[in-house]
Amino acid sequence: MSDQTDKPKLGTRPPLGIKRTVETGKVKQSFSHGRSNTVVVEVKKRRILGKPGEAPAQAEAAAPAAAAPTPAPAAAPARPAAAPARRPVDDITARKEMQARLLREAEEARMASLEEARRREEQAKQNQSEEERRRAEDNRRAEEEAARRAEEEARQRAAEEAAVDARPTEQPAEPAPAAAPTSARPSGQQFTPVRRPEPAAPPRRPEPARPARGRGDDRRHSGKLTVTRALSDDEGSRARSLAALKRAREKEKRAHQMSGPREKQVRDVVVPESITVGELANRMAEKAADLVKALFKMGVMVTVNQTIDQDTAELLVTEFGHNIKRVSESDVDIDTTIDVDAPESLKPRPPVVTIMGHVDHGKTSLLDAIRGANVVSGEAGGITQHIGAYQVKVPSGDRVTFLDTPGHEAFTEMRARGANVTDIVVLVVAADDGLRPQTIEAINHTKAAGVPMIVAINKIDKPEAKPQRVREELLQHEIVVEQLGGDVQDVEVSALKGTNLDGLLDAIALQAEILELKANPERAAEGTVIEAKLDKGRGPLATVLVQRGTLRVGDVFVVGAASGKVRAMIDDHGRQVKEAGPSMPVEVLGLASVPSAGDQLSVVENEARAREVAAYRQGVLDRKRTTAAPLSLENMFANRASTTIEFPLVVKADVQGSTEAIVNALNRLSTDEIKVRILHSGVGAITESDVTLASSTGAPIIGFNVRPNAKAREVAERNKVELRYYDVIYHLTDWAKGAMAGELGPEIIETVVGRAEVREVFPAGKKDKAAGLLVLEGVIRKGLNARLTRQDVIVSKTTIASLRRFKDDVAQVVAGLECGVLLADTNDIKPGDSLEVFEVEERARTL
Ligand code: GDP
Repeated sequence: MSDQTDKPKLGTRPPLGIKRTVETGKVKQSFSHGRSNTVVVEVKKRRILGKPGEAPAQAEAAAPAAAAPTPAPAAAPARPAAAPARRPVDDITARKEMQARLLREAEEARMASLEEARRREEQAKQNQSEEERRRAEDNRRAEEEAARRAEEEARQRAAEEAAVDARPTEQPAEPAPAAAPTSARPSGQQFTPVRRPEPAAPPRRPEPARPARGRGDDRRHSGKLTVTRALSDDEGSRARSLAALKRAREKEKRAHQMSGPREKQVRDVVVPESITVGELANRMAEKAADLVKALFKMGVMVTVNQTIDQDTAELLVTEFGHNIKRVSESDVDIDTTIDVDAPESLKPRPPVVTIMGHVDHGKTSLLDAIRGANVVSGEAGGITQHIGAYQVKVPSGDRVTFLDTPGHEAFTEMRARGANVTDIVVLVVAADDGLRPQTIEAINHTKAAGVPMIVAINKIDKPEAKPQRVREELLQHEIVVEQLGGDVQDVEVSALKGTNLDGLLDAIALQAEILELKANPERAAEGTVIEAKLDKGRGPLATVLVQRGTLRVGDVFVVGAASGKVRAMIDDHGRQVKEAGPSMPVEVLGLASVPSAGDQLSVVENEARAREVAAYRQGVLDRKRTTAAPLSLENMFANRASTTIEFPLVVKADVQGSTEAIVNALNRLSTDEIKVRILHSGVGAITESDVTLASSTGAPIIGFNVRPNAKAREVAERNKVELRYYDVIYHLTDWAKGAMAGELGPEIIETVVGRAEVREVFPAGKKDKAAGLLVLEGVIRKGLNARLTRQDVIVSKTTIASLRRFKDDVAQVVAGLECGVLLADTNDIKPGDSLEVFEVEERARTL
């Protein structure tokens, strides 16, 4: 007995005493769970140890108690009946026995119900039916409630018993060993000391809270929360937790509902050659973040706004289970060249005129004079508005559009951007000054653009005017005016006095007639931005010269890499207009951002299309900005495609003699394959105008003993125009030779080294085919290029991947011998095919 009294500290260790052994044994027999088993043993131990004096009686009583546990696994309803039955028995031992049994029963019932609930829950999960799950949940809750009630009863009884008991100090000792078997938390709780000293009523109240905590599978938490739970106001806490649970379930349900149909919905995703991750996510109806994540897993680090190529996009689309629909660039972008208007739809349109000439020769004066005269002559409106271009009526009633940014800078800027809006150039030459450097530049620019020219000999009112000298000077630049029997119209005018302005307009009208300028006004509008700015009040504004179709208020359009919708249009008299036909300049309101001069405006069918094109163009711009190399490569191939390659150059030298010598030397370098094309040559520093001219064709600029001015250098840097400086002519020609040869690319020379005939074809490896050859001529070497021909038609161009004689790999096989070869990347081999083996040599070209 004394032994036993010492024992409590040993806790769950197997009891050494005979009685206890018998007790534990009994417990083990009656329980299927080790955990519950342990609990019971502890309970028994406590009782025995607590009352050493009564030990013999207890031991005896233990036997009936042992009998009771056996039926204990019976369902929970049996318990309440059993409990009152035993209660009247005043015997302490019997009470303890009953208590133990009740506890066991309660525990076991609880376990069973938990088990059952878990099973149901699993089943419910499988069914994926929310109703079922909820029902299972309810069932489980009800069962737990029942189990808990049983437990509670047992605990209550224990409490009552303890109150009756003379040694309450023993009770606190119980929880400790009970807690030791970690898995048996609930039983530990039953003996929570906190509750024990309290009257019977308070412990009762905490109970309802318990199922709420224990409902989750994580019973460990319920154990930890015991104290809190005991202290908290349980009604409220229960309500809260139930609501929280409901919310959680609801959320889960929603998540299921959302993910369910999404997986089923397979979309056809249209993917252009490049697309931003965000846009792709939109089209796939997936979260952009998921795409970024997936890309990250593939080792591609991108942000939502970054552009990915079609192949990467395909990986993503298939990864998310959708179908990809590849479209090419032309499908996305607007290709105005393919959609040609039918000849019968074309109507005459006004010509678009640009005025060029040397500074102070009177360009601005002429533009103003023409416009002013026109306004005075009764054009409605009166107030003129500078929008970058204006239209005037010529005596015949036709209209002419003038771009009122004079000079060739704007002209070449536009051309550099691929916008050839000018139909006719008016070259202004002051009769008192003759041809000047900028006049010559203007001539060259006009020629480069292939635009017809009209010469306006200005300041004819001046006494020192020598128009005939101007005509003669023009001859030096291969411009033969009509007065000298040529076909370039020349008109003597005075911008200051307004002399012969009608004559100039007539000349323009005549030239326009020759050009037969036509456009289809009945179509979606297309135009070019002439000028653009950000207006504080009205937002981004752009003057658009409509080139074909009719632009209307409300039209949705793309301009450059931005989209927009025409909110309003204002003409060159500041009047609001509803529509603008071909060759009409209008200021457009409703742009998303400020475009650049030269940007193309295209009206599209809807805003989605506008956004698509804008996004695509933005992607192209981004690529251009970040990767310059592929572009130059493209250019190279583009150049190679044409039969004769042109090598454009701009030459500036310190003296006229040098210029001529250089131009002649360079021209002599031209061959049948590549031709030097001097876009412009002149005397003096490299100017901004030279740079814009060069950049429009990608030509390098050669400075012979001259340098660019600051502005030109800046523009050259911006437009990536190559500037080269020389002081010895043959250094310059050496460079040009090399550059021209480089432009042609290296020469590729093929030397046939052997021929063979395919005798038989046999499988090699899992999917490859090997050819058994008889070498007819020369030699076959491993690694060499080979052409397989069938009846003189080339089947494939490949390389000799491996070469064998009998079973050995060999480096080469000579004529007359048989061998086996594997051809790289092809299995299309048939007996009777011929194989031609050749060496390829790349030789740098020389001129
Ligand atoms: P821009 O630099 O080519 O635009 O030339 P402007 O139009 O600014 O003209 C330069 C100067 O020439 C101004 O002082 C004009 O008054 C003057 N000018 C322009 N046209 C004529 C003309 O027909 N006769 C005379 N006498 N002077 C003119």
